[in-house]
Amino acid sequence: MKIAIVGFGAAAIGFLERIHREGHEIHIFERSPDVFSSSISGVRADGKLFVSAEMGGELEIDLDLQKKLVDFYIGKTDNGLIETGSSFKNQEYYQRFYEKGFQPVISDFYHLGTDQLKMVLYNIFQQFSEIPDLHFHFNHQVAQVEMINSKIVIDDQHSFDVVMVAVGRSGHKLVKEIIRLYPDLILDNTRVDLGVRFELPDHIVADINREMYEFKVRYRSRTGYTVRSFCNNPSGYVVIEKYDDFVTVNGHSKLKEKSRNTNFAVLTTVKLTQPFNDPIGYGSYIAKLTNILAGENKVILQTYGNFRQSKRTKNLYRVLPTMEPENYILGDINLAFPRRIIESIIDFIENLNQVIPGVGNEDNLVYAPEIKFYSNRLDNSRIKNLFFAGDCSGETRSIIYATAHGWLIADRILRESS
Ligand SMILES: Cc1cc2nc3c(=O)[nH]c(=O)nc-3n(C[C@H](O)[C@H](O)[C@H](O)COP(=O)(O)OP(=O)(O)OC[C@H]3O[C@@H](n4cnc5c(N)ncnc54)[C@H](O)[C@@H]3O)c2cc1C
Repeated sequence: MKIAIVGFGAAAIGFLERIHREGHEIHIFERSPDVFSSSISGVRADGKLFVSAEMGGELEIDLDLQKKLVDFYIGKTDNGLIETGSSFKNQEYYQRFYEKGFQPVISDFYHLGTDQLKMVLYNIFQQFSEIPDLHFHFNHQVAQVEMINSKIVIDDQHSFDVVMVAVGRSGHKLVKEIIRLYPDLILDNTRVDLGVRFELPDHIVADINREMYEFKVRYRSRTGYTVRSFCNNPSGYVVIEKYDDFVTVNGHSKLKEKSRNTNFAVLTTVKLTQPFNDPIGYGSYIAKLTNILAGENKVILQTYGNFRQSKRTKNLYRVLPTMEPENYILGDINLAFPRRIIESIIDFIENLNQVIPGVGNEDNLVYAPEIKFYSNRLDNSRIKNLFFAGDCSGETRSIIYATAHGWLIADRILRESS
């Protein structure tokens, strides 16, 4: 078979790992100039790999397959050096959070660190580029994928038996274009996660960081919204994330270089109903509004005390931000975020403060906007031999789930063609 993969990210890696020994002609189209580019693949920031049945995506993925793929990535490090641990396997911690209304999320995790990921991605690329019938086409941004006479055609000129679109969330333009041609592909689109990135001194959360590194909890707030913690980075850094026309906040940590602060996201899940059908538009407007207040390409930073009282922050006190100063402005997030979201976040932090005293300190830091977009969930049985894998399919939100999704699609193709 002649197969194309659009995008060289986590899902493509899983797909290739499953299929590369089977003798098919495979072409990978990637818009970034090369494997070292800062725009390529989600496997280049932080690199926390989770094995969990409770998070990472909407799919059910066998834990053994998840662990196998984690081992694949660890095998691509130079010396297997990683940080690892388990979240909430310790009953005492589980109960402490549970008693206060939190739903702890159980997972094992393996942290590669931003500094190691470039090499990991390069080693993976090296392995695949040595395979004779596997062809990488960098600097090729695919603009169109169409079904023509039972073939799948890319950009009106390259024809394939099978195409897997794996462009992540950053490739939403292409997915939008395909949906315009085939609107029946959409299964649902109603959800967006809006919130903030919280930053506080390591010593306040030292015990829980030591115990589990990554603490993930869900909480039904008094507003009715579900709020969750996400992407905890002990001794980490807060950074901006650039989209085409706005910037948001993100966090990461490195294996070697450490800060004195921990950061994590606090996200409120907003699920709206008919006639609403544009969660990306809704999230983008709130992000843009925050950027308008902060100045172009900047985010808002506020102390937690001021955030709670809706007062503009003018000075910081004991906690100093890890974000570069040119990327934020001190301000008031309340001017940009809907009240129900702000109240949900405050309720979450106040409740967390009862389990971990000091989390609710007035001078801890809050950055906004932190937004997690969900792609439309797409139907992989609608168009024969056209598949959507990883985050662009709406089914995954993590490296391991995206990798596994690619792996499972390759497995399905091999089974159906044998
Ligand atoms: C800052 C940051 C940190 C993260 N940290 C973690 C973490 O620690 N652990 C975790 O599990 N998850 C993490 N994630 C999420 C994770 O990166 C994604 O869930 C995962 O990479 C999704 O894999 P994917 O294959 O769907 O897409 P991606 O890995 O994003 O790959 C998509 C590829 O498609 C290419 N592309 C896009 N459009 C086109 C086009 N039109 N033509 C050709 N190529 C195109 C892109 O350049 C990219 O290389 C993080 C995400 C971000 C943004």
